[in-house]
Amino acid sequence: MSTTRPIQARISRQALLHNYRLAKRHAPGARAWAVIKANAYGHGQWRAVETLREEADGFALLECENAVALREAGITQPILLLEGIFSPRDARAVGEFGLTSVIHCDEQLEMLCSAVAPDVPLKVCLKLNTGMNRLGLDAEGLQRALGILSARRNVEMTLMTHFAEADGAPGVAGQLARFRAMAGDWQGPVTLANSAAILRYPETHGDWVRPGIMLYGASPFAETCAEALGLQPVMALESEIIGVQTLAAGDRVGYGGTFVAERPMRIGIVACGYADGYPRHAPTGTPIAVMGRRTRTVGRVSMDMLACDLTDIPAAGLGAPVTLWGNGRAGNVPADEVATAAGTIAYELFCAVAPRVLVAFDR
Ligand SMILES: *Cc1c(COP(=O)(O)O)cnc(C)c1O
Repeated sequence: MSTTRPIQARISRQALLHNYRLAKRHAPGARAWAVIKANAYGHGQWRAVETLREEADGFALLECENAVALREAGITQPILLLEGIFSPRDARAVGEFGLTSVIHCDEQLEMLCSAVAPDVPLKVCLKLNTGMNRLGLDAEGLQRALGILSARRNVEMTLMTHFAEADGAPGVAGQLARFRAMAGDWQGPVTLANSAAILRYPETHGDWVRPGIMLYGASPFAETCAEALGLQPVMALESEIIGVQTLAAGDRVGYGGTFVAERPMRIGIVACGYADGYPRHAPTGTPIAVMGRRTRTVGRVSMDMLACDLTDIPAAGLGAPVTLWGNGRAGNVPADEVATAAGTIAYELFCAVAPRVLVAFDR
């Protein structure tokens, strides 16, 4: 048994590098912003930056202060603020640190232009709303922005949009057509593709791609697994068995007694619960691995523990290694499968890993 509470998230730097290189191989003519928002999808922003600093063409994230911290850590590549600026202070930092800011509305452009002196170089991504209807300029907004920016010297402009359904049957055709119509005779750089579009739609690759989830080794598609895409899981969430119970038929497990043993069973209690970021809605039957064998969770997930079926793994006792997801010591359980069982996506599982989970670094 371990000396501390045994749950940990092991992060493989080699897998992260592998996945970044795979994104680049899919879009050989494009540069790639490694998307490291949300603490690198729960994997640790600094680990991701250190791992990719020699190779990434750029980094993309949300908070201006994180972008500035990257600059101060010596990152010289382009850094993209995916939602742009939120204040005049952000706008000044964009100028001072040479950040690339999304501009998605008139007000943002006005804030940027009034906070940054006219002789200071500006790098902007003009984000167009092509159908997602979240953020973005419309056709007139784009013309207004081009007019304002063409009056400044030293402006680097990229046109950008984001796909709502690149991972599903509708695909990108409608949004791509709208983007082209709005862009008109634009000859400058464009950035369109998230992970799903990188993997499925070469016509969207443009000048810069924006891989996120694929970097972390999960699939953007519901029906294609990460392994089939050549992706390697970066995070392994691991723990150990800290209790064993022997059940008679009719015995119940956990809060609400939602699981009732139909026959004599052995169950293991794992040090991992929803306060660690494991989804509380994962039902009985969610895949989990113990000592190299796949098994299933049983009963409700509690705050600090969950139960799994050890009936067919008699050698597994106290201290037996458990893999909750990822390629861990106890087996390989794709995060996408756990997510599907819990009615969510791997993005959410990764981002939910709690600060109390120890993080260990591989290689
Ligand atoms: C998060 C994000 C991405 C990355 O998306 P994935 O589906 O994780 O590849 C790309 N572009 C923008 C604008 C984003 O916000």
